[in-house]
Amino acid sequence: MFCERNGIKRSWVEIDLSQLKENYRLVKDSLSEDAQIMGVVKADAYGHGDVVVSRLLEKLGVKLFAVSNIREAIDLRQAGIGGEILILGYTPLEFAEQLYEYDVTQTLISEEYAKALCRATGHRLKVQFAIDTGMNRIGLDGENTDACAGVIRRYAEQFDVQGMFTHLCVADSTKEDDIAFTVRQMELFSAVAEKVSDLALLWVHCLNSAGGIYHYEKAKGTIGRVVRLGIVLYGLHPDCDNPLPTGISPALSWKTVISMVKTVHAGEAIGYGRSYTAEKELCVATLPTGYADGYSRSLSGKGYVLIHGKKAKILGRICMDQMMVDVSEIPDASMGDEVILIGRSGEETITADDMGQWLGTIGYEVICDISGRVDRVYLGENTSK
Ligand SMILES: *Cc1c(COP(=O)(O)O)cnc(C)c1O
Repeated sequence: MFCERNGIKRSWVEIDLSQLKENYRLVKDSLSEDAQIMGVVKADAYGHGDVVVSRLLEKLGVKLFAVSNIREAIDLRQAGIGGEILILGYTPLEFAEQLYEYDVTQTLISEEYAKALCRATGHRLKVQFAIDTGMNRIGLDGENTDACAGVIRRYAEQFDVQGMFTHLCVADSTKEDDIAFTVRQMELFSAVAEKVSDLALLWVHCLNSAGGIYHYEKAKGTIGRVVRLGIVLYGLHPDCDNPLPTGISPALSWKTVISMVKTVHAGEAIGYGRSYTAEKELCVATLPTGYADGYSRSLSGKGYVLIHGKKAKILGRICMDQMMVDVSEIPDASMGDEVILIGRSGEETITADDMGQWLGTIGYEVICDISGRVDRVYLGENTSK
C-alpha cells in the first residue's frame, strides 16, 4: 500500500506560515523603509523546511538568502529560488564550478581562502568578505582596518565582490560590557566599510536577529541596511532573558499521538535501565516519538508533554522511537489522542526555548535537531498570499 509522505500522524511538525509571515512583517516594519531582510534559511530553515520558507519569503519580497553550505544552496536553486544566495561559511575548493553554475555567492573567510578559491576557478565568482570584529570564527582581522581594506581591494578584480559582513557575538545580551563590545564590533566594521566605500559594495551587513531587534538604531546607515534574520523569523528568542517584540511567536509546533495506555503498578519500573520505578499505581501512555526523531534523550526523566491541555511528565528513559509519560491525572487520555511536544494545548504552552532550558541549551539547537524522519506539515498557506 502506498503511504503518503506527509500523511502519517505519528510524529510531525506543523509550521504555521501565516505566523512566519507575521514575524517577518513585524521585524521588517520596525526597520527603515530601505532596509532589507536576508532570510537565514540554513539548516533547512532551522528545521522549518528551507524550500517552503524561502518560497514564502520570496513572495514577501525577500531577495537575499543565507545558507551554510553548497548543498543547501544548490537545493534552493534547484527548487527555483532566485535572488542572491550567500554561503556563510566554507566551501571546499573542488566546488568552485558549482558556485558559478548555480550563481551562488561565496564568503571569503580568509585571505588564504580567497587566494586558493581564485586559483581553483577561471570564473569571476560572486563573493562577500567576512570581517572578524571579535568573534574569532571566520574573516579578515577587523582590528587592522588598512590590511582588511587592502585585501578586499586586491581581490576586487578577480572576484565580483558583492559585499562584506561581520557577525555580532553578544548582540543578544543586555550587560553593559557586552553592549560596549557590540558597539566596538560595529565601529571596527564601519571603519573597514568606509575605507572601501569607493568600491560601492552592494551588501554591507552586520546585524543578526539580536542585532536587528536590539541594536538597529546604533547600526543605522551603511552597515545597517541588511538584517540577516534567522531565529526571530521562526519566532524564538536569541536569548531567553530578553523579550521579543510583541506579536512575534513560534511558527513551529511538534506533535505526536498516544499509541497505548496502560496501568503500571507500584514497584514496577519503566523503560530501559529500569531507571524509573513507580511509587504508586500510575496510568502511563506510550508515545511513538523518540530520540531518532530528535527528541533529546537527555530529557529522560525531565520535562513534560501536553495532553488535553495538561502536563504529562516523561517517565524513564526516552527510547529511539518511543517514550513513556504519566497520564495518571489525565483520565480521558487514550490511544490516538494528540500530544503536544512543542506548542500549545489549552492554556499550556511548551516552546522550543523552554525545551532548550530544560536541556541546558538554546531553542536554536532544539528545532535544528528535529530529524528528517518527522513529517513537516504546512498550515496557513492560503492566508500567506
Ligand atoms: C546563523 C547566522 C545568522 C542568523 O542568526 P540568528 O541569531 O538566527 O538571527 C546571521 N549571520 C550569520 C553569519 C550566521 O551564521
